[in-house]
Amino acid sequence: MDQINYELEGLVFDIQRFSVNDGPGIRTIVFLNGCPLRCQWCSNPESQLPKTVVMFNAAECIHCGRCIGTCPNGAIGKENPAMINHDKCTGCGECTMVCPVGALILKGKRMTVAEVIEELKKDSTNYRRSGGGLTVSGGEPLVQHEFTRELLKAAHAQGWNTAIETTACASEEVIRDVLPHVDLALTDVKSTDSSKHEHFTGVPNTQILKGVKLVSEITKIMVRVPVIPGFNEKPEEIRQIAEFAKTLNRDHLMGVNLLPYHALGENKYKMLGREYQMHGVSTLTGEEIDALKAAVEETGVTCRIG
Ligand code: SF4
Ligand code: SF4
Repeated sequence: MDQINYELEGLVFDIQRFSVNDGPGIRTIVFLNGCPLRCQWCSNPESQLPKTVVMFNAAECIHCGRCIGTCPNGAIGKENPAMINHDKCTGCGECTMVCPVGALILKGKRMTVAEVIEELKKDSTNYRRSGGGLTVSGGEPLVQHEFTRELLKAAHAQGWNTAIETTACASEEVIRDVLPHVDLALTDVKSTDSSKHEHFTGVPNTQILKGVKLVSEITKIMVRVPVIPGFNEKPEEIRQIAEFAKTLNRDHLMGVNLLPYHALGENKYKMLGREYQMHGVSTLTGEEIDALKAAVEETGVTCRIG
């Protein structure tokens, strides 16, 4: 068996236990920092930069002023702590330590593979009983591909199921390095139209679609489609994605999973001092979602909602 580097460090911004939506059985999701995309609807904007970030919760702030002047890098505005300059912030965490009400929150912590595995062991009985295990998410976990690979190997060494949530926006070399350690890849396909994809996510889809194909050659794959009003919510667009899914390795394709848009991440943009570009966009109706499911199923591909 491959050696596992348990001392390798990665940047983890969250660990969520008892998930039942991100792979089989009961799972723990480990969220890693860093993503090459900038999807306008991203519900984890705190994950996008490959570094620790500070979020400011204005509703908690009592304006005591303790954080002002604390920052060694001049990243906090003199008048308003919400004005954190994320270019200057190094994530040292000093401001979060002086805040008496927890209004400044550090997202992103360096952890070794061994430390993450110790955390996951709290749920190992649940994994065994339910066939669950570890799901690595982000951000884009292939940004920290060496850490992701070692974490997946370590989970397999424990006998746990492994899954990854990925955009497949990575080189062939990286995909071939990591995906053999994955039992199920939950892989986004957002649009087959490259220029539209670039407008809404910041990157064209050419490399991504190649990456998705390669993933399907290596392991089981569920094609996930975030359905976003104004971007890809038309039945014809979704049908084209299902047609693309049909070109993947049929022995590995588990189906298409439509994820209707929600605005759950909107408050995080405020906490990061960023504009939420999807503000005011409404969610899809039940009838619209049914029509999209029918569009997928007409192609002969299994479809799941949510
Ligand atoms: S985490 Fe450190 S660098 Fe960032 S704003 Fe707070 S004190 Fe400044
Ligand atoms: S230390 Fe906390 S409560 Fe005080 S001004 Fe800064 S963010 Fe607000």
